Amino acid sequence: MSSKITKHLFITGGVVSSLGKGITAASIALLLKRRGYRVRIQKLDPYVNVDPGTMSPFEHGEVYVTDDGAETDLDLGHYERFADLQCSQASNYTTGRIYKTVIERERHGDYLGKTVQVVPHITDEIKRAIRTLDGPDVDIAITEIGGTAGDIESLPFLEAIRQYRQEIGPQNGLFIHLTLVPYLRAAGELKTKPSQQSVGILREIGIIPDILVCRCEEPLEKEHFRKLALFCNVRPELVIEERDVANTIYEVPLELAKQELDTYIIELLNLHVRDLELDDWQDLVQRVIDKNKPAMEIAVVGKYIQLKDAYKSIYEALDHAAIANHVKLKVRQLDSEDLEKPGVDMAKALHGVQGILVPGGFGNRGIEGKIAAIRYARENKIPFLGICLGMQCAVIEFARNVCGLAGANSAEFDDEKDPAKCTPHPVIHLMEEQKKIINLGGTMRLGGWPCDLVPGTKSAVAYGGGSIRERHRHRYEVNNSYREQFVEAGMVISGTSPDGTLVEMTELADHPWFVGCQFHPEFKSRPLVSHPLFRDFVAAGKAMAKDA
Ligand code: GLN
Repeated sequence: MSSKITKHLFITGGVVSSLGKGITAASIALLLKRRGYRVRIQKLDPYVNVDPGTMSPFEHGEVYVTDDGAETDLDLGHYERFADLQCSQASNYTTGRIYKTVIERERHGDYLGKTVQVVPHITDEIKRAIRTLDGPDVDIAITEIGGTAGDIESLPFLEAIRQYRQEIGPQNGLFIHLTLVPYLRAAGELKTKPSQQSVGILREIGIIPDILVCRCEEPLEKEHFRKLALFCNVRPELVIEERDVANTIYEVPLELAKQELDTYIIELLNLHVRDLELDDWQDLVQRVIDKNKPAMEIAVVGKYIQLKDAYKSIYEALDHAAIANHVKLKVRQLDSEDLEKPGVDMAKALHGVQGILVPGGFGNRGIEGKIAAIRYARENKIPFLGICLGMQCAVIEFARNVCGLAGANSAEFDDEKDPAKCTPHPVIHLMEEQKKIINLGGTMRLGGWPCDLVPGTKSAVAYGGGSIRERHRHRYEVNNSYREQFVEAGMVISGTSPDGTLVEMTELADHPWFVGCQFHPEFKSRPLVSHPLFRDFVAAGKAMAKDA
């Protein structure tokens, strides 16, 4: 029997950032879902940007896009991938978004002359954001609080969850604190003090964690469990170890399940403990661990290549495709700016790869390097997947080198003040209706859009034909004035918007596997169900490796 009301889990982090709170929250969501509970999940981010949409990947890593068009934190990618959930606008709130709503309301006169304050007005608005997860179809709502206990900017969020749990009662809301138990090599010891102190910070605010999840490199001994329980005021069995996993992040839920974290959560929330179904997940981890697989290598050519998080979902989707194709996949990360330096030997840089992927991006830095890598993929018949800007670059490359349109480019890189610095062939451009929109934020084609596939194309084969829905995040589009010329020269338009006006997918007729998509397929890939385009891209590379 499902609960009548939505129960809440609040996940906080302590000691340091980058503890993997998102992966822990996602793992808990997966386990609860596999116990038959209907779960929803969100992240509250304490920074002041309204959303991460305008932030540089250097600052924030990837911007994850939901089907309903929210530009969000990359932790939502973990939520969707682990628990196979659909996130939404309700899944990510920032300090900026909360304040924006409150300030707009204040300007509208909604506070009837009252002084508007952090407590209660901001905290009320945070509570409203948490409440958006409630519903008759939701048994358990998970709220991850970004940042670390002790940050000044986290305070209103912590105060809001304290109030929230006070209102719903301990049987309907739990606090889970993720902390670090560092190993001091010189002393040869694990240290519990930072965790005691971080729980101390929460206690000062009025939050006493119900469950302590301890990130560590070395196994916790009985003594550590005892100490942590005693000083942090947590039942000893509710001190859970989350040690670094050896092979893949997809091991984390299995490790947490072994310690029955999900059972304790369910019991504490007064729900029934149902059977846990994880066979397919265990099988997935086994397939990753299996050493007996053919090896292959794919190059990812991007301009944020040195940042682990900038192409997070791309790397994850490649991992899923490797699992589906049973290959050991190595990724060669190439900085596109390096590829445009004079005298670069492209054949050397790309030697031995069985696939080239060019991901999305903004601005013209590194563009020529991407175009050169794409030319190499086209001419040498290496499987290619171009995503968003990657597809746009493939169109530019084709226009210049196959159709002979010298100087073809995207209007994104035009200098409007100087006609001499504008391309004579804007093969990628802004559509007329977009030109009217001038503000930066919120002017993009965002979220899920339908696309009709053309029968017989590689795209249609990958998806199994028909009509698909994929997520977008871009301003520019293929210029329809050049479409006919492209098709005559051997480009295949394999997917369009249902009315045919927007080019969503392109291919090359005379190539083993060369596909571009204007959308971001990486957001919809799942560990158990590899995205069809990534799956077939890696399959084409695997076939090439076999023939070599
Ligand atoms: N900069 C390009 C555009 O806005 C591509 C964006 C992307 O790759 N996400 O159209």
